[in-house]
Parts: sequence; C-alpha cells; structure tokens
Amino acid sequence: MSYLELRDISKVYGEGAAEVHALQRIDLSVDTGSLVAVMGASGSGKSTLLTIAGSLEDPTSGEVYLGGRPLSSLSRNGKARLRRQSIGYVFQDYNLLAGLSAVENVSLPLELDGVAARKAQAAALESLEDFGLKDRASSYPDQLSGGERQRVAIARAVVGNRQLLLADEPSGALDSTNAEAVMRLILAACRRGMAAVVVTHDAQLASWADRVVFLRDGRVVDQTVPVDSPETVLADLPNQ
Ligand code: ADP
Ligand code: MG
Repeated sequence: MSYLELRDISKVYGEGAAEVHALQRIDLSVDTGSLVAVMGASGSGKSTLLTIAGSLEDPTSGEVYLGGRPLSSLSRNGKARLRRQSIGYVFQDYNLLAGLSAVENVSLPLELDGVAARKAQAAALESLEDFGLKDRASSYPDQLSGGERQRVAIARAVVGNRQLLLADEPSGALDSTNAEAVMRLILAACRRGMAAVVVTHDAQLASWADRVVFLRDGRVVDQTVPVDSPETVLADLPNQ
C-alpha cells in the first residue's frame, strides 16, 4: 500500500520574470516498507520534492496524500501534528542539538509531542540500540564521529513509530563506508514499516533503493528499478 502519494504536483517560486518552476507535474507513490531514491543535478527540485512531501510547504497545484489523506484537507495544526507524529526528517548536516546527549536528542521529538520523559527516554534508547549506538547514548554530539552523528539523527527521525522518512543527502558529508552504513540503516528502518524517500548524489548509494527517480528541471525524466541492488543480489543467493 502506498503511504506517500504525490499527484500532479507543481511548485512555482517567485513571480513574473523571476518565476522558477521547481516541480512540474510530478506523480510519485511510495509504499510502506519501500525506499525510493531521488537523483538529479543541483537545482532539479529534489529538496523541493521532499519539502512538499513532508508538508513543510504547500504545492502550487496538485495534491499530496499521506496514508490516503489529502494534505489539503488538514488544518495548519493538523499538518503540524502529522509532522510531529508521523514524519521523520534527516538532513546532510545532522542538525543535532549540541547541548543534548544522543539519547536526549532522540527523545526530544517525543517529549515535544507530550510523551512522558521516562517513556520517551526508553523509546529513544531502543531506537539508538536499533542503530548500534546504545553505548553512545550519553555522549554529546561533539564526542561522536560524523557517521555516529548521522546515525543518531536517523534514530531521532524514526523514533516513535513514524511512517515516513525523508532524507536530504543524509550521507553527503560522510566517507563511503559511513555513507553506505547510513543507507543500510535507512533501508532497515523502511523494512520495519516506513516509507522512505532519500535524495542522494551517489549512484552506488541509490542502488540500495527499491526504485530510483531521476529529476531534471523539476520533472521526472526516468524511474528505474535497480537490477543489481545489494539486497536483490543477496536475496538471489541460494539458501545454504
Ligand atoms: P535541488 O535540491 O535539486 O538542488 P531545489 O529543490 O532546492 O533543488 O530547487 C529547485 C529550484 O527551485 C531551484 O531553481 C531553486 O533555486 C528554486 N528554489 C528552491 N527553493 C526556493 C525558494 N524558497 N524560493 C525561490 N526559489 C527556490
Ligand atoms: Mg537540495
């Protein structure tokens, strides 16, 4: 079942001579449990697509459906609640709060949503454990490596049974080993029941996705199912 659906989405920034068609008639659906990678040159509309999918901005035309519900039917508060409870974001520069430990960073979205501190902390520890970071729970961001910081950011993005993970070049600042680890973890989060859209520049990393969508000048120019994604290769190996 598709959790995220973009139907005929266009986004225009500016007016008159300064008009920019950031997205032009985009159709895209992402199933629960599946990972879609978005590729395209700088300025092709990748970040705009994530922003609109995550209800952080409204499209100029078209409709976004999350869990079958059109975003245009939600009030401002309704959208804010959806963002707090159902959507996780990961950015290139991690955006961890320097004054909070790893576990405090991860529990913050739950606490902001009204979950009791103990319960939020327990969920945060569980999420950190899923990402192999249990022993780093009380470390502060400046005591963590880049790869660890990004894993904390992903743990924060998925904590509390979120349904949609949106990541904008989450591995852009990482070396290839850490970048691959990040894609692997995002894929694992997907398989546990999220829909995910990940922007990446790296074809190797995109090959982890179930589908790759290519944007050019705000339009989808191609969609491919990678034949040789690492998971496919593993799945095709005979059982030992
Ligand atoms: P990408 O992430 O692929 O680099 P973006 O989605 O950031 O591309 O941008 C797509 C186009 O929309 C670019 O031409 C960019 O300059 C323009 N754009 C993005 N955000 C804004 C904005 N807030 N105001 C005006 N133009 C914008
Ligand atoms: Mg961008």
